[in-house]
Amino acid sequence: MLKDYIDKENIGICYKNYSIKKHTTFKIGGICSYYVEVNSSHSLIKLIKYLNKEKYRYFIIGNGSNLLIDDEYLDIVFISLRRLNKILKLNEHVYLVDSGLKPQVLGKKIIEDGYIDALPLVLIPGTIGGLVYMNASCFKKSIDHIVRGVICLNQEGKIIFLKDLKCGYRKTCFSKNHLIILKVLLDFQNKKENSLELLNKYQEIKRNTQPVNTYTAGSMFINGINYQAWELIDKLGLRGFRINDAAISFKHTNFFVNLKNATFNEMLALIYYVKISVLINYQIDLKTEVKIITNNSIAYS
Ligand SMILES: Cc1cc2nc3c(=O)[nH]c(=O)nc-3n(C[C@H](O)[C@H](O)[C@H](O)COP(=O)(O)OP(=O)(O)OC[C@H]3O[C@@H](n4cnc5c(N)ncnc54)[C@H](O)[C@@H]3O)c2cc1C
Repeated sequence: MLKDYIDKENIGICYKNYSIKKHTTFKIGGICSYYVEVNSSHSLIKLIKYLNKEKYRYFIIGNGSNLLIDDEYLDIVFISLRRLNKILKLNEHVYLVDSGLKPQVLGKKIIEDGYIDALPLVLIPGTIGGLVYMNASCFKKSIDHIVRGVICLNQEGKIIFLKDLKCGYRKTCFSKNHLIILKVLLDFQNKKENSLELLNKYQEIKRNTQPVNTYTAGSMFINGINYQAWELIDKLGLRGFRINDAAISFKHTNFFVNLKNATFNEMLALIYYVKISVLINYQIDLKTEVKIITNNSIAYS
């Protein structure tokens, strides 16, 4: 059994039949077969090889800030790298950081040192791994601007170093190749005297325009070249529209929120309601940015 193997090989902590919702910002999700927090990269390699050999399905979970997880039983091993959270400062502006790190505190410190390009680290909820995987961005600055390389693990459990992440809008090479991000090399170049002032300004904008202190997973839909998803939803008069506790935020129409007890199916129904309304009215097929995980389909892309 998986738990026996993890205990015997001292891979980390492992829970069987574990409620995954507390590890998501939406606070939606069911019982998964296993939840594992690995204690080192070495343990992760062992674990991945074992899971492949024994044909377990697995999913790497970061901070769960971009996930909508089914609340049915999930025969999936959720692997968290949150215990891999070391920071190695290589010089004044170059850092090698573990992917399980929550980067807010590090980002704030780097901004205090004057480097404004650390902004996404402070403003976007998540782990380093999640931010890089999603090529997360805010105020027109994406994380790939500061990433110089990534150490990752391929499906066979081999470590590789990648320099070119083939990034686009919410796109990287990691989803296509099922790579697990282990460490990220960050390089900050853009020094500004008023960096702290700018951080405060952007934090205030975020607070005023996004429902940051609610159960949400950020933007639900990807924007297009010629449209902003929030604008299409707003024009349809759907601000605040809800299906029980699954709602479209009053503050930002591309943010969907769980008001308290929303179920997976209610949130999914809301997503499809918006998708169909937008399709009928604007002939635009919105794609979700939020990754939807069910027992039958693990969203990699
Ligand atoms: C209030 C709020 C505001 C937000 N604002 C923004 C914003 O301004 N800009 C923006 O871009 N996003 C925003 N988001 C969305 C979210 O913060 C980002 O998508 C973030 O990058 C998710 O990181 P995470 O660690 O939570 O990843 P998760 O949500 O846990 O996972 C996301 C994907 O990354 C993969 N992943 C995570 N870690 C690894 C790893 N080590 N190796 C391989 N794959 C991995 C997962 O398998 C999954 O496919 C917001 C979310 C919230 C809740």
